[in-house]
Amino acid sequence: MICLCLTGETIEENQEYLRRYRNCIDLVELRLDLLSDSELDRLRGNPGRLGEMLTGVQRLVTCRRLADGGAWSGDERERCRVLGDVLDGPPDWIDLEDDLSDELEIAARERGVGIVRSIHCLDSPPADVPGILDRLSRGGALAKLAVAVSGTDDVRRLVESVAQRAPGTHIVLGMGEYGLMTRLLARRIGSAWTYTSAHGAVQAAPGQVDPRTLVERYGFRRIGPDTALFGVVGDPIAHSRSPEYHNARFQRDNLDAVYLPFRVDDLRPFMSIAHTLPLHGMSVTVPHKSAAAKLADHTDDAVRETGACNTLIREHDSYLGTNTDVPGFLQPLTPYLDAVDGATIVGAGGAARAIAYALVTRGMDVLIVNRTVSRAEALASDMNRAAERIASTQAGVRPGRARAGAIPNSRSDIAGFGSLIVQTTSCGMEPNDECDPIPEYRFDGSEVVYDIVYTPATTTLLERAERAGCRVISGALMFEQQAAVQYDLFRRAYWSFRRSRDNGTRSYDGVRRDIGRAPWSRQSEG
Ligand code: NAP
Repeated sequence: MICLCLTGETIEENQEYLRRYRNCIDLVELRLDLLSDSELDRLRGNPGRLGEMLTGVQRLVTCRRLADGGAWSGDERERCRVLGDVLDGPPDWIDLEDDLSDELEIAARERGVGIVRSIHCLDSPPADVPGILDRLSRGGALAKLAVAVSGTDDVRRLVESVAQRAPGTHIVLGMGEYGLMTRLLARRIGSAWTYTSAHGAVQAAPGQVDPRTLVERYGFRRIGPDTALFGVVGDPIAHSRSPEYHNARFQRDNLDAVYLPFRVDDLRPFMSIAHTLPLHGMSVTVPHKSAAAKLADHTDDAVRETGACNTLIREHDSYLGTNTDVPGFLQPLTPYLDAVDGATIVGAGGAARAIAYALVTRGMDVLIVNRTVSRAEALASDMNRAAERIASTQAGVRPGRARAGAIPNSRSDIAGFGSLIVQTTSCGMEPNDECDPIPEYRFDGSEVVYDIVYTPATTTLLERAERAGCRVISGALMFEQQAAVQYDLFRRAYWSFRRSRDNGTRSYDGVRRDIGRAPWSRQSEG
């Protein structure tokens, strides 16, 4: 269920929030602590207003103290009297903190009001989450634990703590950006409902989204017990276009699958969450590509040689790592490949690794230049070692060589490395879209310039190159291509999962084989 927190100062204001989202929600939580004094007095004098004005949904009432993240700073006995007065409404549910005496609970039960018993931890998760939930559930109450989370490991503890609990007997949520997944996946972690706030209204707790975003962007209503879960992990992640891309395709293909953004500060605990949920596939972005290469249970050549993994696919209980940036980068370059016989790569991060590998394995010599020269040197020597391995194991294959160099100013600085310039740094990406990583370089118009930044689709560098008469390739094309390869892997993982589940067997039909057969990879797992 979706609960809309009503944080207005008057019932009329809250009615307006309800009107705006009525089609998306099941329940409202009226925060008595946020009503103005006069409005609270009116309600206490006529608690029936609750049912008269907030119609068509279930109603939950609470009066949150400052210590629990609310606004009630008054006397505790008065707070209990306020809650007691509105019981005559009656609401459908009342949220009582763990330390409130049983008197209110008994009075509420006599009126047929459902009980939520809650604890709000505003610093960090408590040590014994299962024990706390058991205590809160006493007498059949719905146990609610809301915890401020400061990173992925806090979220892991919450998710793992409820893995064995009966669904619908608790609400567990992580407050803050890292905890968003506990809100989006409420149904999958057994929470009876998830809390939302109206867009533009006071947020009832950190990390809440509005009901429409929850339903339309994150597909909350589509996530059932059998829905296959996919997602993108990174930090930051809010800018990612991947959820839009993959969800549109899952819906087009009528698959019971949802793709979500996961802000993750540490991939290791997230992998544990991925196993628990489980997640059937993940896109991996900055800064986790090298951690993913190490944490994947099996990897292909591209990942082993570049140390960068941007895709994880679940097979049985393990994750297979591949790098779709390699084919994604090469595809838009295809029309130019005959015309270019070498390249300058600007940047030496994760994406540069995939690109250097793609070009060197195609026999191209590359010059790698980077703000931090030592990273360019490390990448060049890694690529040369990869080239030696390929040359010694694959007869007839002649990989290119890599060299590190200084940031160029003119065509003569990159002589010997063809006419292709590939820009792989994050310089030029929104919000730094004024940034140009080779500001002194003067194009002579003969270059093919490929900037892999895709937000904006035309960067400052590409504009400059185009004005000089160069042929240009936008990173938007690479994004589309790498995402298309990734989607194909996700779709195969989906059908493998569905077939194995429907057959009651674990006989997957070989996502790993498919990765091995992919055109950019030579499978040689050690
Ligand atoms: P990364 O591993 O963090 O590497 C960042 C690179 O950018 C490093 O070489 C870094 O240089 C350089 N850099 C950062 N700020 C700079 C500045 N102000 N001036 C000069 N150089 C700067 O990131 P990544 O994964 O390689 O991703 C890089 C970019 O590629 C991102 O914008 C990402 O969105 C884009 N990308 C696009 C696609 C696509 O499909 N089109 C796919 C993957 C990545 P130092 O080493 O000196 O720090």
